[in-house]
Amino acid sequence: MSRRWLFGDQLGPHFLDARDQEVLMIESKRVFARRRFHRQKAHLVLSAMRHRAAELGDQVQYVKANTYGEARDKVRGELSVCSPTSYAAERFVRQLADVEVLPARGFATSREDFEEWASRRGAKRLLMEDFYREARARLDVLMEGSNPVGGRWNFDHDNREAPPAQSTLGTPEPWWPQEDEIDEEVRADLDRWEQAGDVSFVGQDGPRRFAATRREALHVLRDFVAHRLPSFGPYEDAMLAGDDWMAHSLLSAPLNLGLLDPVEAVERAEDAYRAGDAPLQSVEGFVRQLIGWRDYMWHLYWHFGPEYRHRNALAARRTVPEWFTDLDADGTVDARCLSETLRGVREHGWVHHIPRLMVLGNYAMQRGWRPDEVTDWFHRSFIDGYDWVMVANVVGMSQYADGGLLATKPYAAGGAYIDKMSDYCGDCRYNPRKRVGDDACPFTAGYWWFLDRNAERLQGNQRIARQLSSRTRLKDLDELVQQEQTRGSSAP
Ligand code: FAD
Ligand code: SF4
Repeated sequence: MSRRWLFGDQLGPHFLDARDQEVLMIESKRVFARRRFHRQKAHLVLSAMRHRAAELGDQVQYVKANTYGEARDKVRGELSVCSPTSYAAERFVRQLADVEVLPARGFATSREDFEEWASRRGAKRLLMEDFYREARARLDVLMEGSNPVGGRWNFDHDNREAPPAQSTLGTPEPWWPQEDEIDEEVRADLDRWEQAGDVSFVGQDGPRRFAATRREALHVLRDFVAHRLPSFGPYEDAMLAGDDWMAHSLLSAPLNLGLLDPVEAVERAEDAYRAGDAPLQSVEGFVRQLIGWRDYMWHLYWHFGPEYRHRNALAARRTVPEWFTDLDADGTVDARCLSETLRGVREHGWVHHIPRLMVLGNYAMQRGWRPDEVTDWFHRSFIDGYDWVMVANVVGMSQYADGGLLATKPYAAGGAYIDKMSDYCGDCRYNPRKRVGDDACPFTAGYWWFLDRNAERLQGNQRIARQLSSRTRLKDLDELVQQEQTRGSSAP
């Protein structure tokens, strides 16, 4: 059996063919030197790799080098590798002699099955909902024969509740890993590299919050299913300033490191439903995220091709401002939804899906920031960010830069949406109902400015036609446009 080369996001047992297979791992410092990553992300990735190497002991050759190319020169003999998760890494391994590239692992649907499904669609849209239903039936998850359990495939409608009128959701805190001597060593290395000027980070250092080993990942999964999954569904989209984690699983980081397989996470959740420990609406919501959205984004990354990342259908040309890239480190942002969300990213390298989509992404799109820069920012600043998952989520879902290949309309919303789904607006210096004036909400005004700027480009999209036509009835539209052009990308 050839030696298996494991990338830093292929750390679970399912990336090996046998328990005793020989392994090669390469730790490249240059990866962190090229761009300003979140400090906690660099810590997590290094900690996870070094923990895996410690588990493998003599089985692994662990090479520390500046670049992959430099490390490869030190390694002799035949290697096999599971297809890596980015175009750049895939291209790199395919041009090497003596390296066999195997199909990718760590997803619920294979690339062949996805492409077969996509070709069967003909001219029809690649709808996530249809992809998800096929995956559920094929994997026999929450099914009774050929029908969905409970007679419904989709509980989205029930899973959009506004938050309760309290400061936290009241679910038990997530289980947190304990740092150990490997984490200490990683922290010392990062400090040293930073002091030497080799690397520079954004965000705060902090206790490691996300699982770095398989054992920790299984612990997070068990704890989530037992204590938090029941509340996951109804409050999936809700935001509370005093509750950073709500009922989310915090599993994206260990899943994307390859420590867990999505199908095993889904099986645990289904077991909880079958045992009567979690309601169907929550379990279905969680299953949909994992074998639906996560896999769908992975496959679209490859299906749309390497040029997809450069799409810019709304011709957004403004550069991402420094207060945003620095995660509001100086506290200059007054808009409470934005300042709280950036605080979350600064402190944890993580906020849940709705602040990513409806606060950060929404604001970037309203302001016309370049989608490639926004993608790069998300990739660097989030603990779970990898090329494959960022490109489709940012270019397609959040910035509508693909002109509607992925989302049927732009995820643009004004302050009314944020007010309904959070408790941010009450203590904000802006008023979500005002679109002009000193206290005009930058999201509400930004929403109309966005529609006005892109009216021609969005013409013909029936899902947004009503809003486009209401904009022409706004008496203060000229004043609003003037106001927002002045505000531009300055910190709101
Ligand atoms: P939960 O809310 O508990 O959901 C369960 C799991 O579903 C997640 O762990 C994740 O693996 C999966 N999932 C759900 N939605 C998606 C999705 N759209 N794409 C991929 N997986 C999904 N997710 C990442 O894993 N890495 C990213 O870099 C990332 N960037 C994002 C950027 C933007 C602009 C948006 C809108 C979404 C992004 N997501 C990303 C998707 C999603 O926001 C995160 O997976 C989720 O918030 C992670 O927290 P959690 O594990 O508690 O998720
Ligand atoms: Fe955000 Fe506007 Fe609400 Fe302030 S009023 S928190 S800026 S949506």
